[in-house]
Amino acid sequence: MNWGFIVMTAGIHCDVLITGGGVAGVLAAAAAASSGARAVLVERRLFIGGTAVAGLLNNICGLYLNGGDLPAGTLNSGMTANVVSLLNKLAPERRIRRLGRVFVLPFRPDDLKTVLQSLCSNETKLTVLTGTEVTAVEKKNGRITTVVTLNNGALRRINPSVVIDCSGNGGTSVLAGVPFDISPPEEIQMSGYTAFVKGIKKPEESMPLKIPYYLADAAAAGRLPPHLRFTVFSAGDHPDEGFLKFSIAGGISDKEAKTDALDALGYLAQRIPALKDAYIHKTSQGVMEREGRRIKGLYTLTQDDVLNAVKFSDGVVKNSWPIELWDRKRGPVYRYVPSGDYYEIPFRCMQVEDFSNLLCAGRCISVSHEALGSTRVMGVCMAMGEQAGYAAARYAAQGSFNSNGIRS
Ligand SMILES: Cc1cc2nc3c(=O)[nH]c(=O)nc-3n(C[C@H](O)[C@H](O)[C@H](O)COP(=O)(O)OP(=O)(O)OC[C@H]3O[C@@H](n4cnc5c(N)ncnc54)[C@H](O)[C@@H]3O)c2cc1C
Repeated sequence: MNWGFIVMTAGIHCDVLITGGGVAGVLAAAAAASSGARAVLVERRLFIGGTAVAGLLNNICGLYLNGGDLPAGTLNSGMTANVVSLLNKLAPERRIRRLGRVFVLPFRPDDLKTVLQSLCSNETKLTVLTGTEVTAVEKKNGRITTVVTLNNGALRRINPSVVIDCSGNGGTSVLAGVPFDISPPEEIQMSGYTAFVKGIKKPEESMPLKIPYYLADAAAAGRLPPHLRFTVFSAGDHPDEGFLKFSIAGGISDKEAKTDALDALGYLAQRIPALKDAYIHKTSQGVMEREGRRIKGLYTLTQDDVLNAVKFSDGVVKNSWPIELWDRKRGPVYRYVPSGDYYEIPFRCMQVEDFSNLLCAGRCISVSHEALGSTRVMGVCMAMGEQAGYAAARYAAQGSFNSNGIRS
């Protein structure tokens, strides 16, 4: 970075500042603005949607009750349910789908981006600043007073009444000096890298089984890097398309991930005739982190809370998604919430220790390593963002979060 070209632009005052424009941040921003707060959303990428869009994901998890018949609606109502119905309007053919004991909603990243953009543009009190990175935080007496952002060489000071950290890895809270937990390297869940493949000819139905088998075999024999053994293949919208989803156990750069993806496809092309002329059309925008920092909140949700379907007096989000851990040695491991039941995420998991005007929402909330395996999925992050947005707007208007939980 060349600090010689940095200029200071006019500061902004706002009621609610949301840092990070992933699914949690966008719903937080829209909810705060819809409650009458002057909200500002800052996102360092040039687009909103976060991991869901940049990672080329295609199923929203954590929206529905597990077990039983196809659910009639989402577990959390409000804006999360609205996102689902807007996605349904854009792609009516993509309906809720059963995957074993759970249900997911298939989506296209571009559709999600369109829906999230429409949520933002409907809110006249919301300003969205993309390409804008949080670089510093100033605090006084347990309050965040100023957040400094950088956009295109220009620094800006933002003075909010309240801040919601939706940065995925808790970066804003860490800049403020909030303590956090992080799993030891050998425990941290595998990251992911997706390659969107085109040029598949006469696809075989068995490819979702054959591809992981061939790659696991090659990884075991040392012909391909060991992490390729957990690769998954899913078909795309058209017969000539598919997704190769790689799981990565740390320490691999975006460039290395791409090289490994090309090597894997080259290896497969020699063994599966349908892939002979296949090529990588697009990849996720780098290696995507499943697990990062967990900010210390007033309560830390545990594995027992999840598996015993615990409800809390300040429960604000319902979740029935299992603990899904992408274990470095075993691959994905699932532990289920009791069938037909859900647990609640208490508001205290979003309230940050020792800071009166800071909330966290999305992937970085206060949970254990195991509980994160359940709370980190998109449907849950959206619902958390929405609740944090309403609470922050209340704080800006009344000086207190005053969260009464789900049952009020
Ligand atoms: C490989 C992989 C596969 C997954 N598969 C699924 C799946 O199939 N279904 C599902 O539901 N979930 C899935 N997930 C989980 C899910 O995608 C994420 O946990 C969820 O989207 C997180 O949302 P978020 O809004 O909390 O954070 P993010 O989406 O990470 O958004 C955080 C945003 O903050 C921005 N940001 C960070 N720091 C700064 C800063 N300093 N200044 C400004 N902006 C900043 C980032 O650019 C980003 O846009 C998967 C995750 C991974 C990694």
